[in-house]
Amino acid sequence: MKIHEYQAKSLMAQYGIPVPKGGVASTPEEARQIAASLGGRAVVKAQVHAGGRGKAGGVKLTNTPEEAAQVAASLIGRNLVTHQTGPEGVPIRKVLVEEVQPIVKELYLSITIDAAARGPVIIASEAGGMEIEEVAARTPEKIIRIAPNPTVGLFPYQARKIAYALGLRGDQVRDGAALLTNLWKLFYEKDLSLIEINPLAIVGEGRIVALDGKINIEDDADFRHKDLMTLRDPEQEDPLERMANDSGIAYVRLDGDIGCVVNGAGLAMATMDMVSLVGAKPANFLDVGGGAEEEKVKRAFTILLDDPRVKKVLINVFGGILRCDILARGVVAACKEKGVHPPIIARLQGTNKEEGRQVFRDSGLKVTLIETLHDAAAMLR
Ligand code: GDP
Ligand code: MN
Repeated sequence: MKIHEYQAKSLMAQYGIPVPKGGVASTPEEARQIAASLGGRAVVKAQVHAGGRGKAGGVKLTNTPEEAAQVAASLIGRNLVTHQTGPEGVPIRKVLVEEVQPIVKELYLSITIDAAARGPVIIASEAGGMEIEEVAARTPEKIIRIAPNPTVGLFPYQARKIAYALGLRGDQVRDGAALLTNLWKLFYEKDLSLIEINPLAIVGEGRIVALDGKINIEDDADFRHKDLMTLRDPEQEDPLERMANDSGIAYVRLDGDIGCVVNGAGLAMATMDMVSLVGAKPANFLDVGGGAEEEKVKRAFTILLDDPRVKKVLINVFGGILRCDILARGVVAACKEKGVHPPIIARLQGTNKEEGRQVFRDSGLKVTLIETLHDAAAMLR
């Protein structure tokens, strides 16, 4: 689950991480008042669940409270399109109005889960700011990684090592190490999957301030953080992913055109690999789960039918606890309700395979039944 920058900064402040003074506004008038209380000059920042706002015109420096109100009026109510959003963008409902910081240098700092390291990894760079993707691509040696042992946590020497790598010197090393220790605590205690500060800025006489803040909370830990769940903003989420999430279906929207319906996460990933190997592109990851009922399968399939980019569907199911006939019935029910459906290629194996195939044959739908995934390859291109 993603949260907004203003919410992330409030959490960071609770953990003693320095953030700029400011407030969140839903109207130009509120933005004007906050800017006035900050002394006039301000930074007005669109609050959306996407990065790349700076380059997309979503972050503006203003000189007077009136100007802050004007910028707020120009942002609130419209959609912001950044390189991290789809072409339709995401709606701006609020802006964060903050005091302007005299930036001396922009650093990068994040903690995330690294699957290869099988645990959290701290990523830091002296070359932070809006070009961080360029830095990663062209000069990867400017980015350092440290994977603390998740059981024992971050050692002080590791925190100091990162502080030095960030180019901090003297008293700043102590401040930087303390900030890291607090950031680690926040990441660990709140079960985050990402915390990213870009830029972490050195300002004025050398103070270190988090000018941006991005936090993702691990969905599987939601039951432990009922308070954090209130920060959810469904309007910022992909509507299909939201529908899937609400139905307990593991679904991730991708940018290809082959809709994939699979049971089991491992099989789903293998199926997506196979689709890519033959030169096609999956439109989604979708795991209907082991013990899905007909109704749940129907909902899962409806999500694919609602995705306008899906041109063909590949069903790859190994019936175990989920019986093939239940799956077929759910798919048929979804297609009948919708009226139209793209061509379906279905491989059913395992429990009640024959019954499942019969349901498809009797349905009158455009379903090609295949025995092995090899048979699918030619049909996907
Ligand atoms: P993002 O583009 O979505 O990551 O948004 P950021 O919060 O990182 O803001 C983009 C850029 O705006 C930063 O890299 C800074 O260069 C600039 N910026 C943000 N806050 C301030 C500020 O208080 N003072 C100054 N001078 N620049 C700022
Ligand atoms: Mn940023």
